[in-house]
Amino acid sequence: MNDMRIESDHFMAGERKAGVGNATLQLYSPATGEAIAAAPIGTPDEVAAAVTDAEDGLRAWSAFSAEEKERVLFAMATAIDAHGERLAEMESLNTGKSMGIAREEIAGAASVIRFYAGYPTKHHGAQIPTSDPGTLCYTIREPIGVVGAITPWNYPLVIAAGKVAGALAAGCSVVVKPAPETPLTTIELAAIGVDAGLPPGALNVVVGDGSTGAALSSDPRVGKLTFTGSTATGRKVLLAAAANGRPAIMELGGKSPNIVFADVDLPAAIDKIVMGAFANGGQECCAGARVLVEGSAFEEFVELARERIGSLRCGATDDDEIGPLITERHLERVSGFVERALTDGAIVAGRGEIPEKGFFYPPTMLTNVTEEMEICRSEIFGPVLTVDRFEDEDDAIRMGNDTQYGLAAGIWTSSIGRSIRLARELDAGLVWVNSYLAGEAAAPFGGNKASGFGRELGLEGPEEFSQTKVVYVTAPPGS
Ligand code: ADP
Repeated sequence: MNDMRIESDHFMAGERKAGVGNATLQLYSPATGEAIAAAPIGTPDEVAAAVTDAEDGLRAWSAFSAEEKERVLFAMATAIDAHGERLAEMESLNTGKSMGIAREEIAGAASVIRFYAGYPTKHHGAQIPTSDPGTLCYTIREPIGVVGAITPWNYPLVIAAGKVAGALAAGCSVVVKPAPETPLTTIELAAIGVDAGLPPGALNVVVGDGSTGAALSSDPRVGKLTFTGSTATGRKVLLAAAANGRPAIMELGGKSPNIVFADVDLPAAIDKIVMGAFANGGQECCAGARVLVEGSAFEEFVELARERIGSLRCGATDDDEIGPLITERHLERVSGFVERALTDGAIVAGRGEIPEKGFFYPPTMLTNVTEEMEICRSEIFGPVLTVDRFEDEDDAIRMGNDTQYGLAAGIWTSSIGRSIRLARELDAGLVWVNSYLAGEAAAPFGGNKASGFGRELGLEGPEEFSQTKVVYVTAPPGS
């Protein structure tokens, strides 16, 4: 890792730019707690300059033919793969996730860019039937303009790549404001994009904190915002967008139920159910952290889950399954949720072991919980799962939907009929049956209720960044 050059400047108008503000962010290795780099905090003036660059970038990118755009996006995806190991090392260092998981994330970023690389030549309007045979009516799908993208720290590169590639494929330019904790790979994404042929200004990155994000959200020249993060911050971004009369995509929190019926082969399923809650240290907006088990299988489930949780390998080596939390502050937040749950009457029914150094929280299973408790209602974003019981299908649906969120849900059953019924009844943007956390670039992603609105990825992704123009062409009078 010593030979890794850590760059944490902004990236604007096709090049890295040192920050001008006095304040800086300190970046840490969550696995060791050691400081690894400093990064600038983008000022409102720097954000405004990046949006101006993006306006230039929009004009330049619009001059590319659809096929030229595809070549650039393909080249970007290929370059991400070629730089995969370096990017994975950087992501692993900055987030604490193991190299194995970081490699999967980088491969996911290349995959989503490659998926969208095929989009520009297939993205077109329609011809509309007219009442006047002398008039031709057609639609053009046009880019919505400069996209402002605000991203979180849990999957820094793949979330940035999804937003950026969707927006570029629709013909937009982008200003990304990465999370203050994890800007490194997003800056690399922009540098790789320019090397792959993006014109200067098509993709800009302003590093910073909430103040930088607020400046981007309130810039009236931003055509659309796309935000992934907490529900509370998302609402602030939404208010800023509303003040300018601009739309936004909101990918917010979740408290996803993972519903386990007694007819499932529990010993065969237990690992996937447990990892559905603990993957990425539970720092996963879709985490299936609210496990609901059919009454007759409850004791067996808790016993099997306790064994599995006890055997989880926590650490940041290639071989480890559960990494650290992102910051010390977040570690305190997660501990606070569990302490309050214990005061509310919850019982620790299973716990893993953690290394001494780094921002680790032991994977924890809580039982004796009720639906009203904070631990069952709030998003914890750490390796904590609750187990509650339900009596029948109706009860499972009611409890599954008893949340302000609606991002994801899991169903474990050997009954096809039941899986179809529950997949219909659960109010979520995404439902997994007999798996958890599978993801495809081609599948639209997003939530219902307080989990947000708008969809990213899939063919719906770039549609969010386009708007329709209608053209009526009539033969000249007298012709
Ligand atoms: P967390 O609390 O885990 O940092 P947030 O939802 O607050 O999660 O952060 C997600 C992203 O939103 C980050 O890039 C963060 O810097 C940014 N952000 C925080 N506050 C604001 C704000 N007021 N306006 C715009 N972006 C913000």
